[in-house]
Amino acid sequence: MNIVLIGAQGSGKGTQSRRLAQALKICYVASGDLFRKEISEQTELGVKAKAFIERGDLVPNDITVPMVLGRVVEADCVGGVLLDGFPRTIVQAQALDNGLQDVARAVNCAVYLMVPRDILLHRLSGRYICKAQQHVYNVNTNPPKVAGRCDIDGSDLYQRPDDRGDAVQKRLDIFFNETIQLLDYYRKHQKLIEVNGNQAIDQVHADLVRAITEKVK
Ligand code: AMP
Repeated sequence: MNIVLIGAQGSGKGTQSRRLAQALKICYVASGDLFRKEISEQTELGVKAKAFIERGDLVPNDITVPMVLGRVVEADCVGGVLLDGFPRTIVQAQALDNGLQDVARAVNCAVYLMVPRDILLHRLSGRYICKAQQHVYNVNTNPPKVAGRCDIDGSDLYQRPDDRGDAVQKRLDIFFNETIQLLDYYRKHQKLIEVNGNQAIDQVHADLVRAITEKVK
């Protein structure tokens, strides 16, 4: 099963995708995490992507598309993949469809996690991520048990540079102007599911599992 999860920054997309991938026993692939790994390892790709990411801009397709498609066809993803953060544009959605078709696979459904913009801003201002494995916390809505420490791996929590200042507004603008067009794309292909992301974490998870199981049975 190949699933695309669409949601704005702060919608709970990262938290929910990880849980969902575990529940459905498919591989979790987040384009943002792939970039952050490349940046921390100072690879050529990471160096190219860094400036775009820090400004809150999308990284160009000639860098992003081969990176994600290359990951999706690796052995651990053959049984299914949950994509978080990719595609973000129609061009990327088409590239994904073509890339999967080449290996006799397809996107089974795309899930939109709906959260209003004012709530997203509030959530993003409190968001902290763990340094080791990018587990996501929120000082307002989902705090760690010990302040500044990840519950799961004990590593330090930090605020992403692109969760601060102008970059946050820019990323939300990109989402609501551009990424939102994906909803029509997947609706036309009868693959879209919409789930209310403005609920308790466990409720959102339960709704996601139910809606996906219904759609892909
Ligand atoms: P995320 O962790 O999904 O919020 O991604 C962090 C940043 O990585 C984004 O703000 C973009 O700069 C870049 N990025 C992630 N996914 C994509 C994508 N599909 N297309 C272009 N840029 C991306």
